[in-house]
Amino acid sequence: MVLTTPLLAELAGRGAVDVVATPANAPLLANHPAVRRVIVFDKRRDARGLHGLARTAATLREAGYGVAYLAQGSMRSATLARVAGIPVRVGFETSAGRWLYTHRVPYRDDVHHAERLWRLAMPAGALASAEALRPRLHPGDAERHAVDVVLQGSAAEGRPFIALAPGSIWATKRWPYYPELVRQLAAETPVVVVGGAVDGDLGRAIASVSPGRVLDATGRLSLLASAEIIRRARALVTNDSAPMHLASAVGTPTVAIFGPTVPDFGFGPLAPNAATVGHELLSCRPCDRHGPKACPLGHWRCMRDVTPELVHQTLLATS
Ligand code: SF4
Repeated sequence: MVLTTPLLAELAGRGAVDVVATPANAPLLANHPAVRRVIVFDKRRDARGLHGLARTAATLREAGYGVAYLAQGSMRSATLARVAGIPVRVGFETSAGRWLYTHRVPYRDDVHHAERLWRLAMPAGALASAEALRPRLHPGDAERHAVDVVLQGSAAEGRPFIALAPGSIWATKRWPYYPELVRQLAAETPVVVVGGAVDGDLGRAIASVSPGRVLDATGRLSLLASAEIIRRARALVTNDSAPMHLASAVGTPTVAIFGPTVPDFGFGPLAPNAATVGHELLSCRPCDRHGPKACPLGHWRCMRDVTPELVHQTLLATS
């Protein structure tokens, strides 16, 4: 969803933009100036099954949309647009739902995913500027207040701090040395650990290195409020995961650590001041589009060989 925002900004220049989003992603678009309305499509609850899909399609049909951009690419979203009677349906020629599209756009392997999505609405050969391709999110008063509350009384309140995002759904994408990195940072540098509730164990382990200096904020903020706390950070150190894209969308200097994946897949950081770190000489890398659950070779050197010293040096050069 974050990487879709350059496409949304482009479309907003042509007319009103409504977005169909999952319950998890919909709140990210709160306050977004490019978006008129967010329609939540919850395939596990009210939009469940054929009846649920038909109900949502009826809502879309009433609105009378002329074009649907199927950024997500699933058969379900293509079916939704088709059943809603949207006459022009645009998506990637590689997507599962391509049979139901009226316009199929090449899925380019040589560009960032934000650009791929942006090109859904652009003529072939259109020139992309870095500015046009920067994702953007717009935390509002509620998010600012939530962050104020979380920071209150911590070492990071009113002071420049480093944010760490140690989580990832994929175990092999979690760099294991965040606690060592905290030990390497200047003794007085405040640190805030961000992430979801599932990252609680990681957050607690990192905070235990220096309890007065490290604030564990995992599980305490929504995605959009997490973007706000990252916005206030001097820099973010992150794995190849969602917080990296949040930092891109709020312009925070970023050090992104890549293990089994590589930025060339099209999902690297887009913040103006960003660097990536990875084991460039490992022949088994990359080994998986998302990151396997466990290293198929057992040694996991793509992460274990990325030293805290290297990440620290990169952070010093970036922030
Ligand atoms: S096979 Fe190589 S790239 Fe894949 S997880 Fe193992 S060490 Fe990393």
